[in-house]
Amino acid sequence: MRERIYRSEALIVRRSDFSEADRLLVLATPAGKRRVVAKGVRKTSSRLAGHIELFTHTALLLAVGRNLDIITQSQVLDSFSALRGDLSGLGGAYYIAELYDKVTEEQEENRPLFDLLVTTFTTLDAGVARDLVLRAYELRLLDIIGYRPQLHRCPICQELLTEEANRFSPTLGGVLCQRDGVADRAALPVQLATFKLLRYLQQQPFEVLNQMQISVGVRQEAETLMRAYLRHVLERDLKSVAFLEETLRSNAT
Ligand SMILES: [Zn+2]
Repeated sequence: MRERIYRSEALIVRRSDFSEADRLLVLATPAGKRRVVAKGVRKTSSRLAGHIELFTHTALLLAVGRNLDIITQSQVLDSFSALRGDLSGLGGAYYIAELYDKVTEEQEENRPLFDLLVTTFTTLDAGVARDLVLRAYELRLLDIIGYRPQLHRCPICQELLTEEANRFSPTLGGVLCQRDGVADRAALPVQLATFKLLRYLQQQPFEVLNQMQISVGVRQEAETLMRAYLRHVLERDLKSVAFLEETLRSNAT
């Protein structure tokens, strides 16, 4: 049988040891998530090893294998070296990758999600405030996978939300209008500035993040709301959330 070779752009989201000298990689690609093998890369003589680091954006050449495809070449497009340099960036990277991993199935084509992943890593690597990058990422990702939180119309009555709305319901998936604010007793308080921030992040391109001046209280509330909503959507917490919180202090913005 002739070996079949193909090219793929990828971002390496997870990595583990596999047999004695190999590694198993989980890749985000425009064609979806896939698991592949990098052979011999745990040997010091491996030339491929330096080109398949975790969180690297790369152009790969792969050979179709019997079970798992095999990486034969890797050309690094971006190694995101700045975010590797500090714990805050690294904590963010783990969180971004884990969230992608949790919401995707293997081999399910999704170009927008892949593009979002690369944009998010690029923005974080450029030194933009981590929490704002993560909020923008979460909102876009939820949109792409069909869980866009409702921030314009009340999820119960579908009426346009006014500035008086002040309750966010993770279960109902959005901000409730004043009349329906009591419908979910577990709904969380949301101040107007936070409501506006989330709406803004849901729509604006990542380029605006660098110019934003948002108070700490509003940013913390946005995080609380998004964490609660994601917990509802995913039905669990992500492992990297603990690391994210540990590395919060090194994020001096
Ligand atoms: Zn309503």
